[in-house]
Amino acid sequence: MEKLEPFSREELMRAVLNSDNLPSLPTVASQLVTMTADEDATLADIADLVSQDVALSTKVLKVANSAFYNFPQQIGSVAQALSILGTKAVQSLVLSFSFMSLRAERAGRGFDFDRYVQRSIAQASMTRLIQERAPCVDSDEAFIAGLLQNLGELVIACTLPEKYEMLTAEKCPLSETIRTEHSVLGCDHCHIGYEVAKTWNFPSSITLPIRYHHAPLEYVGNDEKTGMTIRAVHLADLLVGIFHAEDPGEIHSQFRKEAVELLKLGERDIDGIVEEAHREMDRVAASFGLQVEETRPVLEILQEANIRLSLLHMDSEQMNKELIKTKIALEKLTRELQEKNEQLKKLAEIDELTQVYNNRYFHATLDREVSRTNRQGYSMSLVLIDIDHFKRFNDEHGHLVGDFVLAQFSRVIAETVREYDTFARYGGEEFALILPETDEEAAIQAAEKLRSAIENASFRQDGKTYQVTASFGLIAIEGQAKAAELDKQAIIKMADEALYDAKKRGRNRVAVYRGKRKWYNLINK
Ligand code: GH3
Ligand code: MG
Ligand code: MG
Repeated sequence: MEKLEPFSREELMRAVLNSDNLPSLPTVASQLVTMTADEDATLADIADLVSQDVALSTKVLKVANSAFYNFPQQIGSVAQALSILGTKAVQSLVLSFSFMSLRAERAGRGFDFDRYVQRSIAQASMTRLIQERAPCVDSDEAFIAGLLQNLGELVIACTLPEKYEMLTAEKCPLSETIRTEHSVLGCDHCHIGYEVAKTWNFPSSITLPIRYHHAPLEYVGNDEKTGMTIRAVHLADLLVGIFHAEDPGEIHSQFRKEAVELLKLGERDIDGIVEEAHREMDRVAASFGLQVEETRPVLEILQEANIRLSLLHMDSEQMNKELIKTKIALEKLTRELQEKNEQLKKLAEIDELTQVYNNRYFHATLDREVSRTNRQGYSMSLVLIDIDHFKRFNDEHGHLVGDFVLAQFSRVIAETVREYDTFARYGGEEFALILPETDEEAAIQAAEKLRSAIENASFRQDGKTYQVTASFGLIAIEGQAKAAELDKQAIIKMADEALYDAKKRGRNRVAVYRGKRKWYNLINK
């Protein structure tokens, strides 16, 4: 291929940087970059700056409160986001939205800005996913470096539209992109993106990954963190490439090989990344308000490519037979995968000793129920349950018997509660019971029923019989007005205070938290 004009790299960069069509960073984002580089800038300064742009702050808060961060507490202001999530996170969100809002109207024909943004967000989310297994990289920095890695492509499309059309007309495979760019432009999008990001005063932790994301080994600087980010960004580019390539199998193998070489990732980590990729991509895209179709799992894409390849070599009858066979095999595989996923999910939610839900599941459920109660104005109750004098029990009968009783105790309660109640092991010999749509009176009845079921149960092992009692602390949340003031932690604390009260008053009883008013106790028969 011939070069159209004898442009030197310097001349080309001058033309790009002086172009009227060069995308420019919105004011708030560009001031923020300067401000965060300045050590004297306070959180309040940064909060003031970001809050100036109401639309931007709204978007930032939306993501801060989404599954993207999975932060349990509601974040209500930019200042709060800064103190809870940190400056880097807020900066990363501001830059992300600024990047997504860059004007690209004058881009050459054939440049699809929406698709470009979608792919960039996918690359950012994959960088973050990979970074989680290579913990030396900062997660917010990884995200923004991943997002901006192909800034150069946008710049080419805007400032050199004819060249951009020539590049896309070439329709080269991923591995050839850089070579094609060199022959058309005399340099590549990495270099162009890097130079533009420098004029935006971005720190080297962002500009260098843009510069080296296609050739991570060429980075010879001694900042290990930047080196890792570069490699994570590079791998994310490959990972996203699997979803778009003509030959996904090839890119997939390359991704696996380089993940070992560049980040020393183990097979299990790589499997985890590949399995999680499509879901994480969709989750992050949704957090950023992008409407995207559901992405297919990598394994499915690879399998389909394999089938396509083998079909190429068959006649039609053979092809039909093979198709039916593969369809059956695929269905079986999908079923097996589903079963495996369900088992895994269950394992992550169930406490091994007692086979009831674990603490993590309890917290997730309580979050959900508290927010449902807030929204819909129902009642809900939480009961904390603690076995009485269990230390003494262990001392007398041994830990193994203690374990046995914990499991039996859990079984009695799990069998007694309603189907839509959530019973979980909170930790040690403490348990928790979430009762949705249950007011105080009904919750007291339920707790009393459990208390007496335990008191009357005897657990037999090796010809011996054991008995325990338990104390119950209960809090009922009634309707919107009350729940709105309460968060999960506050609710747990109140139930815990009630539990403490039940213990203080002699154990084997139910105590109810009644705010600042007097305590109410159910005395046993
Ligand atoms: P209280 O009535 O005030 O709750 O007295 P307690 O002895 O039950 O309370 P404490 O918190 O002092 O002790 C809890 C005991 O529970 C201590 C620990 O040995 C026992 N325990 C916690 N987890 C397990 C477990 O998994 N297996 C067994 N066997 N015992 C456990
Ligand atoms: Mg106890
Ligand atoms: Mg205890």
